[in-house]
Amino acid sequence: MEFFDSHAHLTGEGDYENLDEIIKRAKGANVTKIINICTDLGSLDRGLELSKKYDFVFAAAATTPHGADNDNDILFEDVKKAALNKKLIAIGETGLDYFYGFEKKEFQKLFFTNYLELAKETNLPLIIHARDAFEDIFKIADKVELKRAVLHCFTGTEKEAKKVLDRGWLISFSGIITFKNSSDLRDVLKNIPIESILIETDAPFLSPQSKRGQKNEPANVVETAEVIANIKNKSLEEIAKITFDNANKFFFS
Ligand SMILES: [Zn+2]
Repeated sequence: MEFFDSHAHLTGEGDYENLDEIIKRAKGANVTKIINICTDLGSLDRGLELSKKYDFVFAAAATTPHGADNDNDILFEDVKKAALNKKLIAIGETGLDYFYGFEKKEFQKLFFTNYLELAKETNLPLIIHARDAFEDIFKIADKVELKRAVLHCFTGTEKEAKKVLDRGWLISFSGIITFKNSSDLRDVLKNIPIESILIETDAPFLSPQSKRGQKNEPANVVETAEVIANIKNKSLEEIAKITFDNANKFFFS
């Protein structure tokens, strides 16, 4: 049995003291592929090094909506260069987040549009972050008819899930699905075909229910798979295999 953590932040500044240990634990838990999401210059530099060292850790990069506090995206040219040099497996996470309302919508939209176009240009899949912003996400993405995209850390409604699936995109579930108070989200999952599902940790954030309050890490993606298996009436082996195959197809085809 193998698991694919489709979204973890391994190289954020000061996030992990001993990354080799974290990766060893992931391997020990049969997490055999990890997408490492880089969101600034430092994490991208370290992320490219990490991918050199471990051939099963793949780098993706973009400025998150939380980094869009003016119109100057200082990461963009480096992401573009890395993408064109085939050092990235995906563009992201990028998107729109209107939940806190700290960053101006116009800057978020500008950044999101630029990364969308880069994904299109480089033929790489796009990892989208969307919170309270689905309508604008679809409005912008539909202009470029994006085929390969995943809505990461999905916490939306059934309606929103349907719109994601209508576009042929995937939906990724994090440890949030394991939380005691996530019964609405578990209901949404019931109606999402397993062929459209990825699993992720979003480490170091969002530890699953049994580890809440601790720093999250890729090994914990197994708990998310267990909860999905329960909801879908499948064995853990089946969910591991299906989500692994989904992610392989999505990132490597
Ligand atoms: Zn993330």
